[in-house]
Amino acid sequence: MGIKEALEAAYDASMHAYAPYSKYHVGAAVLLDDGSIIVGSNFENASYGLSLCAEAVAIASANSESRLHNIIAITIAGGKPDNDGRAMLTEIPCTPCGRCRQIIKEVSDVMDKDIAIYCLHQSGYRRYRLSEILPDAFGPNNVA
Ligand SMILES: [Zn+2]
Repeated sequence: MGIKEALEAAYDASMHAYAPYSKYHVGAAVLLDDGSIIVGSNFENASYGLSLCAEAVAIASANSESRLHNIIAITIAGGKPDNDGRAMLTEIPCTPCGRCRQIIKEVSDVMDKDIAIYCLHQSGYRRYRLSEILPDAFGPNNVA
């Protein structure tokens, strides 16, 4: 499996978002170097600040399978839900929030790699590099 399947997996994972407060469904998928995919969806909480983003869930799930070092890309799909709960994509892609960029930074530095981030939108996807959307970031090397 490759990026195309990871993009579809992120889109499908948005259907499983638990987002009763924002009503904004996000799915994420990390693509591993052996082609396998691990997904996450946003998981909100009545205490709003405790909510988890889809990207964080997917990355933490990969870590819980000892696969953190195998992540080569992350894909993201977000939007208001359609009747099936999948994100209705717009022309503006759902990009990682600041906190998730920092989480992706941790993975990037652990792997000594500039992780590719693919964000779905209505007519395709945009590809970013972490260094592009979080330049001069604080990371593990700062506290080493
Ligand atoms: Zn986030």
